[in-house]
Amino acid sequence: MASVLRTRAELRAALAAAPRPVGLVPTMGWLHDGHRALIRQARAENATTVVTIFVNPRQFNETADYSRYPRSEARDVALCDEERVDFVWAPPVQEVYVPGFDTVVTVGAVGQPLEGAARPGHFAGVATVVAVLLGLVGADHAYFGQKDAQQVMVIRRMALDLALPTEIVACPTVRADDGLALSSRNVHLSPDERAAAPVLHRALLEARSRWEGGERDAEALRRAMRDVLATQPLAVAEYVSVADGLTLAEVESIEPPTLLSLAVRFGATRLIDNELLG
Ligand code: AMP
Repeated sequence: MASVLRTRAELRAALAAAPRPVGLVPTMGWLHDGHRALIRQARAENATTVVTIFVNPRQFNETADYSRYPRSEARDVALCDEERVDFVWAPPVQEVYVPGFDTVVTVGAVGQPLEGAARPGHFAGVATVVAVLLGLVGADHAYFGQKDAQQVMVIRRMALDLALPTEIVACPTVRADDGLALSSRNVHLSPDERAAAPVLHRALLEARSRWEGGERDAEALRRAMRDVLATQPLAVAEYVSVADGLTLAEVESIEPPTLLSLAVRFGATRLIDNELLG
């Protein structure tokens, strides 16, 4: 059984005696097979695996999104048990943001466009909480999903700049059979929205196949993705991006690595997905 720990002190005490290397999987809970893949990779590469479950208020730019974010600790702990996780850290907010907490970690250019522009404050919230987690756990490896590609880039930048001793590992996106990237937020989709949601992946695959067919004009790929999204009336595109895979600046012509990415709303639910070329 995974031990469920609440305080910073309990986590530190547990880890002091734990065999190394230590692998960390930060999550916001409502665990699914995408998280499970991260946990499995962490288990395979470390002697001790720590999963954190914390719905981080600082990374939500919309209060409604925070309050309705799905939560079920019992279900999450059961999944962690199944996967033989050693420690689950599920702290109350004041154990992460201790009294007087007054630090914000802001990552520069790579956190500005796309999710950074659409969700003001989001990446400062992410970088700050991940800095706390890495500081507390002193992990050898920390595992993140490529589904949140920009998040991985932001965290890598932070780890490099702050000389954090943890290696950041990116894991491939896990999808449902129809191509929809697994996400805790998928639970909010109505049956019609759920049926329409694989259009994100179809749009990305259409752009990829045009690139593979020789298309090098970025605007043609953006148009191709928008055209696929337009086939689904329930899908409201927020952004459609073809960007440099290292800087995330929008490009005119494709010179890999290139990140194709999308943010699309279905009613009140906002989904993101991406595909890396090259
Ligand atoms: P979250 O609980 O949504 O904050 O996600 C926790 C971690 O799991 C993040 O590093 C996500 O990128 C990763 N993740 C979420 N969904 C998936 C997925 N479908 N495939 C792979 N990783 C994922």
